[in-house]
Amino acid sequence: MALMSRRVAGFGTTVFSEINALARLHGAVNLGQGAPDFDAPPEVLAAAIRAVNSQLNQYAPGIGMATARAAIARHAARFYGQELDAETEVLITAGATEGMFSAILGLTDPGDEVIVFEPVYDSYVPNMIMAGVTPRYVALRGDDWSFDSDELARAFNARTRAIIVNTPHNPTGKVYSRAELSFIAELCQKHGVIAITDEVYEHILYDGAAHTRLATLPGMARWTLTVSSLGKTFSVTGWKVGWAVGPESLVTAVNRAHQFITYAVASPLQATVATALELPPDFYSNLQAMYQAKRDRMLTSLRHAGFEVLKPQGSYFIMVDWRGAAPSRIQNDVQFAEWLTSEIGVACIPPSIFYQDSDKHLGRHLARFAVCKKDETLAAAAERLLRLAKA
Ligand code: PMP
Ligand code: GLN
Repeated sequence: MALMSRRVAGFGTTVFSEINALARLHGAVNLGQGAPDFDAPPEVLAAAIRAVNSQLNQYAPGIGMATARAAIARHAARFYGQELDAETEVLITAGATEGMFSAILGLTDPGDEVIVFEPVYDSYVPNMIMAGVTPRYVALRGDDWSFDSDELARAFNARTRAIIVNTPHNPTGKVYSRAELSFIAELCQKHGVIAITDEVYEHILYDGAAHTRLATLPGMARWTLTVSSLGKTFSVTGWKVGWAVGPESLVTAVNRAHQFITYAVASPLQATVATALELPPDFYSNLQAMYQAKRDRMLTSLRHAGFEVLKPQGSYFIMVDWRGAAPSRIQNDVQFAEWLTSEIGVACIPPSIFYQDSDKHLGRHLARFAVCKKDETLAAAAERLLRLAKA
């Protein structure tokens, strides 16, 4: 008898674990997983230490600490003019990952369809499979990763329960425009479909791109659950402190699932949320400037190495077409990522993992590099990548 359930048997190991292991094995500069190799702002780290030393070490309320919920509501008002009741419309989750999973479990029924844009962040579809929900894919295509409006409109049907929108987008770095989000908003309202948004890269934007919160578009407050987290903005991806915000009806449903998955999130880390989100405007502008410089520097290095670069507007990532920079024996993105890691000493992510089986060819010529690394790390990667140009 197989010990593994049929539910998880098809999942395999996440590509992030595989690439991390390969990078370690070969001593490669790891531009694979989107995790900073530098630390959080000192004020945020100090707040965590203070919390541990103040006996904030027992269970927090399941819905989240009041101070953290209030800070999340103030942040939504400060950046997006979104009015939230901190008592009923904010739920703290174990990172955005658990927020998304609890959202799917709390807001869909087995047999429903949920629309996702492809390439799709790796956890959503396994979440849906565990929930008994069918993913319905809509392709992002071309240099700007746009979707075909007719294709999206056709994807909505009587079984559609929700649509997931991740902006800024992993892995492409696409930032959905206001016009695109307005089109999605119209379809959601026309069909009574919930939008679940993953906005973890909301503060990592390039070239003056603006992040639009779908929940703030006309009529969307009641239809949108917004998920985000501390991880990316404050360089604490290991903390797993996230949130899901939206109307009470949706947040209550998500909490029904959350209370039996994690119950409550690490108290001393939740206790830092107010300190983090309430850092002054300088923190947010410096973060953008820092990432802009890192992205620009990596774009130049990748171009010098011979890659065709698909310029991101946001997120931790740059997607490239590797075909001009790799030996002809390399046939696909997985081979490319393995070869780059083992022979050149730079690890990246093969993007075909963000596609369903029948669409994997769409990611075969691509590679994803993370830019959330110290300048020394990016310099070491650039030096190694330059070997491709000389080869
Ligand atoms: N969503 C997206 C699109 C991501 O890129 C990530 C980052 N790894 C997550 C969710 C996970 O966020 P968290 O660490 O807060 O669970
Ligand atoms: N979101 C991170 C990335 O895309 C990885 C998170 C994880 O390992 N699950 O690199």
